[in-house]
Parts: sequence; C-alpha cells; structure tokens
Amino acid sequence: MKIAILGGGESGVGSALLAKAKGFEVFVSDKGPISEKYKFILQENRIAYEENKHSESEIFDADEIIKSPGIPPKTDLIMKLTALKKPIISEIEFASRYTKAKIIAITGSNGKTTTTLLVYHLLKTAGKKVGLAGNIGESFAKQVIEDQFDYFVLELSSFQLDNMYNFRANIAILLNITPDHLDRYNYDFEQYVDSKFRILQNMQSTDKFIYFAENEPITKRIESNEFPPQHLEVSLEHKTTKGAYLQNETMNFEANGESFQISLDNLPLKGKHNAINMMCAVLAAKGVDVAMEDLVLGLKTFHNAPHRLELVAEIDGVEYVNDSKATNVDSVFYALGSFGKPIVLIMGGVDKGNDYTQIEELVTKKVKALICLGKDNDKLTDFFENKLDLIIETQSINEAITLAKGIATDGDVVLLSPACASFDLFKNYEDRGNQFRESVKSMIN
Ligand code: ADP
Repeated sequence: MKIAILGGGESGVGSALLAKAKGFEVFVSDKGPISEKYKFILQENRIAYEENKHSESEIFDADEIIKSPGIPPKTDLIMKLTALKKPIISEIEFASRYTKAKIIAITGSNGKTTTTLLVYHLLKTAGKKVGLAGNIGESFAKQVIEDQFDYFVLELSSFQLDNMYNFRANIAILLNITPDHLDRYNYDFEQYVDSKFRILQNMQSTDKFIYFAENEPITKRIESNEFPPQHLEVSLEHKTTKGAYLQNETMNFEANGESFQISLDNLPLKGKHNAINMMCAVLAAKGVDVAMEDLVLGLKTFHNAPHRLELVAEIDGVEYVNDSKATNVDSVFYALGSFGKPIVLIMGGVDKGNDYTQIEELVTKKVKALICLGKDNDKLTDFFENKLDLIIETQSINEAITLAKGIATDGDVVLLSPACASFDLFKNYEDRGNQFRESVKSMIN
C-alpha cells in the first residue's frame, strides 16, 4: 500500500516516518521548498520526496493521501484527488490509528494553545506519562512510533478536524467558536461550526465533552443534537451541577461526583478567558484522576507560551503587555476585560474581516489612546473616529512604543493586542511580539 504525503513540514515528515515504520511505501511532496532539517531526516530514513512541485503521476497512484492542514481543499491537486475518490486524511487521523493512549483533544477559535499546554502541565505535575502534540511541538505521528505514553493532549485546529473521520477523543474540550478563517469555509460560519464539532464524532457515552456554556454557536448545536459523551459545562455566569463555574473570583467544580473549589488568587493566568481555560483544563485533568493537590500545584506553576498577555516589563509604573497572538476581535475583547486600569492600546495589521462592535464599549470605557499599527488602518480609524480622544497611526513598532510611553502615566497599561494578522509589517505574530518586547526592553537599558 502506498501513502502520499502532501506537505514536508513537521506533520508531513512525522507521518512519513510513521508510515515507513508501519511498512507502507511512502512519497512526500511539497509545492514549496522543504527545510534542510526535514530533508536530512527524509534522506536518512530513505523516504522518497520531492520539493517545489507536486508530481501527479507519483501522487495519483497512492492508496491514501495525508494532507498538511495548511493546504486548502480548493487547490487544483486536492480537487483532482477528491474527484478520483482518494481518501484524504490528516496527520492526526493517521497517527490516531496507532496509539493505545487515551486522547484529550482541544479545539476552539481562541485559547487552544493555552489550554492544551495547561492540561499537559497538570498531567505532568501529577506524574502521568503524557505526550503533547497537534498544532504544538513534535508531530503526533512521530510520537506514536514508540507509543510510550498513557495520554496524549492534542491541540486541534479546524483545518485538522476537516480531514478526520474515525479519530476518537476520550475527552474533548470545545472552548468557543467565533468568526475566524472564514475564507476557508466559503464565508459560511455554519461550515466552520461543523468543522469544530467534528471533534465530537465517534465519542461514546463513557467519554467526556467539556465546553464553554456562554458561547451561542456551541449551545445552539448542543440543544438541537444528541451527542453521546457526558457533558460538562463551564460557565462564567451560572451555577452548574455538572462541570465548573466562576463565582466571586473562585472556580467551583462539580465533577466525578465531587465538589471542590480553587481560588483565582495568585494564579499566573489572568483574565476571564483564562478562567474558562483553567476550568476546562481542570475538568479534563480530573477526568483522568489527577489529585486535587496536583491540580492546585499545576495551576500555580504554569508558564504560558509567550505572546499571550505576556507581561514584558513595568516601567515608571506602566505595564507593557504583549498579546501579539490576539489576531481576532474576540481575543482582544478578553484582553481588554483583563485589566482594571486605563489602557493605551496598540492594534492593527491585516484585517480578516473584523467587526469591532464587540469591543466598542470596552474600548470607549477603558482605552485612553489607540495607536494603529498597520499598513492600512482605515477600517480601525473609521470605526473608532469620534469615539476616542486620541487615535494615532504608525507603521513602526518603535514609534508605537515611543508614542505609548509619552501617553501612558503611572498605573496605566500599554497593551499590544492587534485583532489582526501581522503579515503587513512583520513575518508572523511571533516576530511582532518579539519586536514589541525588544523595543520595550530597550527603554530599560
Ligand atoms: P489559540 O491557540 O486558539 O490561538 P492561544 O492560547 O494561543 O489560542 O491564545 C490566542 C489569543 O486568544 C491570545 O491573545 C489569548 O490571550 C486569547 N485567548 C486565550 N484564551 C481565550 C479564550 N478562552 N477566549 C477568548 N480569547 C482567548
């Protein structure tokens, strides 16, 4: 049996190694260049590959295709393969066939990485044999070759879920569904919701489904469908008998027939959105019998990935916070809600069809100046014109920081939370966040 793998990055090369280990004939094809690191691995393992092209003759005779989530379904090659009725699956679908581990799968429009890392950290703290994969770190496929873990925590994007069919999560977390990536879903929000709900396919009544109860696209689907797994809801607004809720800065849990509470005081993750993430993560960890003391210890010792409400420095009483990963309006909504202080907000970049109505009230209440950092700021300036006293445009991060420093006074926050992609002025969101951090730190030296 022959497997063709489209995309020679981490997931493609991991799939190639796994396929080879399982005795398949393997061919890797990438339309662009493959990095030296991955070419070396392919050569070392005698795996056939090509770069900068897709040779149809090599791909069409494969029995199954593993497609990188980055390749849109509407490309010429994928349409032809679909017409030929070739099974097209994702790396996660492929790898899940070869593991005995229990799977905790996490999806949502925002908060996936934070929650995935946190679940992983909670299980690690408890001494469990646990692996981390999906959109993060080493590929799932590569890790199941040895298959030495009892649990895998997987971050799943909608693009991965699109090509998953028989995968079964034992515990699934669905954090939220808000408009994002609609260009891949024919600008049809319902298709994007369908994709996120694929996380539930194949789950059974002994499995657990953890979700945020104040997200309408989620609750609408749940009300009108029967999903077999046990439901655990997470709420910021109401008490629940199965799941978790927030009350007076305390997280209350009702799970596995037990009730317990954990205060938000002194926990490193701040903001309502992170309370949701923490409640989901704790419910998942509780689902695999992590003890209370490990849950508390894990929450206290957690370090999030950079660029997510990352406190870079406090200078002259002003906090500088890097939230460069906030690339849509919903994440900025939660970022603004995380601070009880006046905010100098740096926003802008490549707009993905944003509607700023969701943050209008918070911005007018909390933001003392808006600095628009983008090549084309018209949409932002048009929306907030006459709603704020001070709106300034710039295309330089250093200038943005200098301006912010001039405006902010003791007790304020300078917050980079762009609501936009970064590709107009930066390589990616990491580059944008790193430049913000360096620029702020240069003021200290
Ligand atoms: P993802 O992996 O889904 O992009 P991240 O954990 O990397 O999620 O966070 C992305 C952005 O979304 C950050 O700006 C973060 O502060 C914000 N965020 C995190 N969790 C949530 C949530 N539950 N709801 C809304 N925004 C969130």
